[in-house]
Amino acid sequence: MRRLPGYVLSLALFCAACSPQPNDIRYEFFALGTDVSLTLYAVTPQQASVAAELLESYYADAGHHWYPWAPGELQSINAAIASGSKIAVSARLADVIRRAAEIEAASNGRFNAGLGLLTELWGLDDLSNSPDAIPSYADIAALLAQQPGARRLLWDGNRVSSESTSVKIDLGGIAKGALLDDGIALLRQQGINNAIINLGGDLTVIGNVHERRARVGIRAPTADSPIAFLDAASGETIVTSGNYERFVEIGDRRYTHILDPSSGFPVTHTVSVTVVHEDALLADAAATAMMVGGADEFDALCKALDIDYALLIDASGDMHLTSGMRARLHFVSDGHVTRRLRERLHSISDRRLTGGTRERLHSIAYKPLFN
Ligand code: AMP
Ligand code: MG
Repeated sequence: MRRLPGYVLSLALFCAACSPQPNDIRYEFFALGTDVSLTLYAVTPQQASVAAELLESYYADAGHHWYPWAPGELQSINAAIASGSKIAVSARLADVIRRAAEIEAASNGRFNAGLGLLTELWGLDDLSNSPDAIPSYADIAALLAQQPGARRLLWDGNRVSSESTSVKIDLGGIAKGALLDDGIALLRQQGINNAIINLGGDLTVIGNVHERRARVGIRAPTADSPIAFLDAASGETIVTSGNYERFVEIGDRRYTHILDPSSGFPVTHTVSVTVVHEDALLADAAATAMMVGGADEFDALCKALDIDYALLIDASGDMHLTSGMRARLHFVSDGHVTRRLRERLHSISDRRLTGGTRERLHSIAYKPLFN
């Protein structure tokens, strides 16, 4: 079997990959601009290596074709839209773009996958090259006046065009979720039923971990430690959008990568949103939409997007939870959690993370501070 480029087999907990017996095996590789880990439970080494190789190659391919900044299919689609012409789109990408447009409508435009030109104005398309100044109000207003959005795409079978050349498709807020759905489908096709795929902190669980549910930690925005954990049911995805993940520094200020489509400015009122759902694509888009909607629209967006489990941390450190999430989350009292946050945590739950539960923490749903 060809060795996977760049993967690391973690031996600490998941040893015995060399034995032909079913065992736990973990792969790590870099794809989609982030760290990806694939943990397979009770699999044979042969089954595991075939699945990991397929997954890594699928994600490498998506890295070219699903992002507007890399030469590939989405770049060609955007070039066609910008020139006012029509172009054929592959079935899966068309499906994801159509769903992005549906979520744009359902979220009342808080999620908008047609704002690639706004992202460019803010210099968020190339984080290695910070702009000297924030974009001018006039440029932002001129772009927003053209009402860019995935809803302005026109479909003719699998061919797409747009009624506005100001639309530039940016699937950054939904792609990882869609690719978690695809990755899980790929694993199931390989006969794998117990696994976790973690795409830079957004993760999906299938099956069980040694007959128990996978225990997933949710990271404190301010530290690497979990503030809370929950036990994920098979098929559930846990996604976190945060204003601390990606940002551009202009002058002495940081501007987050999540933009409010109505003002054209980066979101400041919300620190992070975590969503749990069986539809990974929806969870991803919803977390981004709820970052934009903030605490004020938390309930309305949960309802509109059919989200039962969500947690929002606003800029003052206050937490907003759905009743479903409140019932499932176990909060951690930990030195890394800010005092304000900790006070809130105690009022919600005073359960402590004991040594025993810490061992059962299978995966932490957090994103690196810089990616
Ligand atoms: P996420 O980390 O899933 O919240 O996605 C953030 C990414 O989605 C950004 O890097 C942009 O590419 C894109 N994005 C930013 N603002 C929005 C928005 N309001 N709606 C949809 N996508 C957005
Ligand atoms: Mg998202």
